Amino acid sequence: MSLSLSVVVPMPAHSSLGGPLSYRSEFPLAPGTLVRVPLGRREVLGVVWDAQDSAAGRPESADLKQVAGVLTGLDPLGPRWRQLVSFTANYYQRGLGEVALAALPPQLRDLNAQQLARRVKRPAPDAQGTPPPATQEPTPEQQQALAAVEAGTGCFLLFGATGSGKTEVYLQAVQRLFAADPQAQALVMVPEINLTPQLEQRFVARFGASDVVSLHSGMTHPQRLRSWLAAHAGTARVVLGTRMAVLASMPRLRLIVVDEEHDPSYKQQEGARYSARDLAVYRGRLEGAKVLLGSATPSLESWHACERGRYRLLEMPSRVGAAQLPSVRLVDMNLQPHKTVFSPQLLAAISARVARGEQSLVFLNRRGYAPVLACTSCDWKSECPNCSAFRVFHKIDRTLRCHHCGYTERVPRACPVCGNVDIAPVGRGTERLEENLAELLAGERRPGGEPVRIARMDADSTRLKGSLESQLAQVHAGEVDVLVGTQMITKGHDFRRITLVAALNADSALFSSDFRAPERLFGLLMQAAGRAGRDGARSGNSEMWVQTWHPRHPLFTALRKHDYPAFASQQLAEREQAGMPPFGYQALVRADARTQEAAQAFLASAAAAAAGLEGAGSVTLYSAVPMTVQRVANVERAQILVESASRGVLQRFLAAWHPVLQATREKGLIRWAVDVDPLAI
Ligand code: ADP
Ligand code: ZN
Ligand code: ZN
Repeated sequence: MSLSLSVVVPMPAHSSLGGPLSYRSEFPLAPGTLVRVPLGRREVLGVVWDAQDSAAGRPESADLKQVAGVLTGLDPLGPRWRQLVSFTANYYQRGLGEVALAALPPQLRDLNAQQLARRVKRPAPDAQGTPPPATQEPTPEQQQALAAVEAGTGCFLLFGATGSGKTEVYLQAVQRLFAADPQAQALVMVPEINLTPQLEQRFVARFGASDVVSLHSGMTHPQRLRSWLAAHAGTARVVLGTRMAVLASMPRLRLIVVDEEHDPSYKQQEGARYSARDLAVYRGRLEGAKVLLGSATPSLESWHACERGRYRLLEMPSRVGAAQLPSVRLVDMNLQPHKTVFSPQLLAAISARVARGEQSLVFLNRRGYAPVLACTSCDWKSECPNCSAFRVFHKIDRTLRCHHCGYTERVPRACPVCGNVDIAPVGRGTERLEENLAELLAGERRPGGEPVRIARMDADSTRLKGSLESQLAQVHAGEVDVLVGTQMITKGHDFRRITLVAALNADSALFSSDFRAPERLFGLLMQAAGRAGRDGARSGNSEMWVQTWHPRHPLFTALRKHDYPAFASQQLAEREQAGMPPFGYQALVRADARTQEAAQAFLASAAAAAAGLEGAGSVTLYSAVPMTVQRVANVERAQILVESASRGVLQRFLAAWHPVLQATREKGLIRWAVDVDPLAI
């Protein structure tokens, strides 16, 4: 007997939208079974997709290639997992095989059945057993949120102030789930696991190392495989991961937590550009699992969904342990002398904290020493030869580095154009800020009379493995008085000794062409404020300082009152008027080409050919434009925005447009990609 079956295989982008390929098998294989099949000259990993029918007598069956091997010993991937993958591929306009295979651990591709069997059998390396779960007595607000989650179904938005104890709610929601159903599984997603080593420790401490596995891109392939197998087998009851974890196979998934649900890093920026937050909500519905989204500054999409009654709002406005939110102080930079970096008020406030033995945090979203190096006598600037951007001056190793393409050179001794030796940094990054502060605070003393200790944390200072953890440990141990850094230091950390946070140069986002820039800035500033005064005993006079040229901007008015709802309603009103998300739906098509003309011409001809397609009458296609950073690594980039008032219409239009895009030829075009629900326009 011979059966024909459809198998999903990895295919290059855009070519496999037609779905799975047919293969022949001598015996029936359940949908979801992992197989090895020939593809061209290679043998690849595939997933059996549909039920098979008998191929006997069918004329084409003789041409079908035979399945080469079956990864026995592994339960087939379940129907709901397959549906999640199908949905993801359809919604984000990518190939089924690409999405399915990207959701599996990479090492699975290289293993044959015997090698896999050895790994499946091997017990988890840990055997510590279940620990005495040290549960904190929930606060009344936590209690209320937990009760609502326990009793309810669907999707919840936990709108909890920074320091209100959201993490404890996640932990206890999972505990209650296990108490009701010891077999259940929970998926807990965080934006960037590396930034919050504390969180992993808290979950392991609560549930035991054998119950908790992690899934994120910082792991080695064998580690990822081990975690994935434990999740798939159901032996790991908690999967703690970044966006990729949303596609993990978890047969008994009952609860999904998305911490800091507003964070842009939930959106995948290559391949299938999915939003793991949105997929979590979809998956929850699919699996009948509860979904708990948490944030102090929810995305406007989620906030709006609460207003519409689609999500249930759970509020925790108070901080745990009588801790106060910091008071917000705005410094009007119009009143400062020209070129002021630190206003005297802010400097005095930091000095006072140092003298009292308290910690301050100063952040600036720009790493390196200075964003530009410029000649003082001609108009040479440190442009990147490959990108439409400046290379950043890093004083530490005297290099000019492009933050887009990575191109790095030693700083020239003299201006490459006119030979002038006087070339000077313009503007300021975290390195320079650290240097400035060290000079300005040189005379200040700690309570014991010792000099002030300044440390810097950003992508540069934490590049080496383990350096992030050791720097964080120093801050927690009180070995640092002033911490300077990028937004990396504003996220999630439970700093106990910081009582002052200062934001420099926040203004640029106020007038950005990206309509989401104010939302991101507000979130960032609220998160940053959230690092100050977390310990009730020292929080009484904690402060958040913002230096700005626009102190009367409504964003700052809302920030002063820690009033996210006011900010959200003002933003939502603007968005509604303009028909922007969440009141309208968007997609971008991006094109990369040798020349900007080619990139735009490709988009323009695909747009011209879109007239008459299904839904075309109800979508708006804007003109093709260069991207903000137009050229990266000598590739020219352009994009076209597509908008519709209806998600369904946009989806149908994109599906109809896809083959048109595929068929559109343009000399010099390198690649194109669709971004559905893009975060940056
Ligand atoms: P969030 O995530 O909302 O910013 P966390 O979950 O980090 O807040 O909690 C802030 C601090 O309060 C943490 O140090 C945490 O251990 C503590 N905490 C949380 N819940 C309780 C509780 N019920 N009793 C005592 N301390 C708590
Ligand atoms: Zn010059
Ligand atoms: Zn570059």
